[in-house]
Amino acid sequence: MGQAKKMLMEQEEQELTQNEFTEFFERLLVREYITNLNISGIAKHLTTKGYDSLSKDQLRVLQDFTAQFREKYECSQCYGTHMSGLLDYLEVLETGYCTICEIDRENYLRD
Ligand SMILES: [Zn+2]
Repeated sequence: MGQAKKMLMEQEEQELTQNEFTEFFERLLVREYITNLNISGIAKHLTTKGYDSLSKDQLRVLQDFTAQFREKYECSQCYGTHMSGLLDYLEVLETGYCTICEIDRENYLRD
């Protein structure tokens, strides 16, 4: 693979992560989940002004928050083995299970 192509792919991957990061906080703000005013303020900054406008310190606050969120909302059925992205953890917050386990459960309950 050429260097330019590789760089482009890395850039795309980074953008995907940033979009996911932003959407994650967008959804938490809608739910009014974040009670810490400092964190919710930075999250609002992220969703209105964009990822690139955050300072390193602000970014670190949000990254600490997501790290704790991931620990707290790990899927209780697969222990996170099905979970790939941040948004999967929102699913656990809502249903107690990740998307894949939730579908499994629905199928199981239907039979
Ligand atoms: Zn699961």
